[in-house]
Amino acid sequence: MLTGLHVAVIGGDARQIEIIRTLTERDAKLSLIGFEQLDHAFAGAVKEKIDELDFSSIDALILPVAGTNSEGQVDSIFSSERIFLLEEMLERTPEHCTIYSGISNSYLKGITAQTKRRLVQLFERDDVAIYNSIPTVEGTIMMAIQHTDFTIHGSKVVVLGLGRVGMSVARAFSALGARVRVGARKSKHIARITEMSLTPFYLTELELNICDADLVINTIPHEVLSASVISKMPAHTLIIDLASKPGGTDFRYAEKRGIKALLAPSLPGIVAPKSAGKLLANVLAQLLKEDLQKRKGKAT
Ligand code: NAP
Repeated sequence: MLTGLHVAVIGGDARQIEIIRTLTERDAKLSLIGFEQLDHAFAGAVKEKIDELDFSSIDALILPVAGTNSEGQVDSIFSSERIFLLEEMLERTPEHCTIYSGISNSYLKGITAQTKRRLVQLFERDDVAIYNSIPTVEGTIMMAIQHTDFTIHGSKVVVLGLGRVGMSVARAFSALGARVRVGARKSKHIARITEMSLTPFYLTELELNICDADLVINTIPHEVLSASVISKMPAHTLIIDLASKPGGTDFRYAEKRGIKALLAPSLPGIVAPKSAGKLLANVLAQLLKEDLQKRKGKAT
């Protein structure tokens, strides 16, 4: 149980509903910031504005998967207001206050380091990232179907990156009958791609490998699909960029060339918010319980 714990949930998407449900069921006290348009009410959770929040009583702060943007703004699909998480707010929290997000950026890392508050990035955990790749793949398949007039079966698909998402995407598209090539930079990844009976190539040979691609799925959070690479693609190629914002595609050039390129963030929150939210909720509940037990242990 999380009795006695005061948690602020700031912004997010439909995944947060599962988090709120799970934490209130476990008896945590919740302050919900950026949820004024959410119709549902939860016993033990109060909707508040960020300027009304008493930061001095907060044991943990839960941010959306994306954390904040580079100016500290926190997105919420349940609010039309602009919400900012500022360094001065963290300064008012107790020293033990922990900030949870999915991923992070230099702004969030900066304000947590400056205020000496612990930042936990849930997607650094392999278990979370691998489970989360399941709805990500389903969302990618949905997008591929929606934005093409050909079947995945038999199509030439290039996946960039063999990380937690890249591996799941490559395997799923291959299972649907696509001819999958995977680009990576490490020899161990080339070996793994071969072992998976897919066609590997080194990223240094990307231009050679995309010249007949029907679909390019990028999972590398760096600009790999540069103007030069895009210029070698056939006009009908669809790019689905899964990498975190701003993605790994030169979108300006893709548009100029008439290549359809879609940045597709937060697919789990769109296609399966309940499953994706449950996964995050269970991990968060466990981590909050461990924190609470540690603090209780120190106090006795
Ligand atoms: P990951 O396990 O860290 O994999 C990242 C991959 O990118 C690895 O293969 C890595 O190769 C490669 N890479 C990183 N920097 C590179 C560079 N400069 N040049 C070449 N290759 C590079 O990450 P993940 O969990 O698969 O997630 C991938 C991306 O998808 C992240 O940006 C994540 O935030 C995003 N994501 C998006 C969604 C969505 O809904 N759109 C859902 C989940 C995750 P090395 O091992 O060689 O570094």
